[in-house]
Amino acid sequence: MEREIEWLDACRRMAARQADLFAATRGIAERTEYEGRGEGGDMTLKLDRQCEDIVFDELERLAAAGVAMSAVSEERGEVLLGSGDPVHRVVIDPIDGSMNVRRTIPSHSLSVAVADGDSMEDVHFGYVHDFGAGEDFWATRGGGAHLGESRIAPPQPEMPLEVVGLESSDPRWILGAIEELRGEAYRIRSIGSIAITLSYVACGRFDGMLSARGCRSVDAAAAQLIVREAGCEMVFVGYELGAAALDLETRYPVVAARSLEHLETVLAAQEAGVARRSA
Ligand SMILES: [Mg+2]
Repeated sequence: MEREIEWLDACRRMAARQADLFAATRGIAERTEYEGRGEGGDMTLKLDRQCEDIVFDELERLAAAGVAMSAVSEERGEVLLGSGDPVHRVVIDPIDGSMNVRRTIPSHSLSVAVADGDSMEDVHFGYVHDFGAGEDFWATRGGGAHLGESRIAPPQPEMPLEVVGLESSDPRWILGAIEELRGEAYRIRSIGSIAITLSYVACGRFDGMLSARGCRSVDAAAAQLIVREAGCEMVFVGYELGAAALDLETRYPVVAARSLEHLETVLAAQEAGVARRSA
């Protein structure tokens, strides 16, 4: 647990420094400066790189204190830090919701997962910071999920499917999903950050969520532990938890819900979206 607190403190320092950076970079034009393409394939915003620099600065501090790790991040790819065999695999998205950052939409997040293996099942610490609301979601394996300092309570049985979060909501990919949810879900919300949307399922703000298209491990690695530790259901479509890799290549749609019944509904919607997608 001591180690987990160390990770939590480091993540909170990263979030605080990123928040300062966003506060100093306020306008849409200022936030829309690009610097080429990252390892993950997306165009890199200058802000993406600056946020990643902050994250790596804090990771290097931990490495200098004796924590050897391999760090996987969208822009830099995989990097070894510290000396000796890397004990931890750290999977980072410095900005989940780059489009929101660029357009000055408040909801975007920092996502940091720490694993002792190379699959989602091996994640033992997960941290998501929502810069819009200034909220921390975090979990430790076997230690439960937290919103700030409060432990998240397990879901109540038999709640209706009131609000469903839709991510990667490319209009060409969501038609079938929305049709499938007609008559099943009361309202749909689309935040634009997979990590925040998963965290919302974990803490009961959403009853379910789906990503219309495949996402990367960096988007989901931290929040999937938060979802599971909160007692909710989590699926990487097409992969068992132990086979969903923590790398930059694999893509998997994610689906989560507060009950098995709701999971079936959102999973069917995700699949219907894929089936109806148009070019
Ligand atoms: Mg990103």
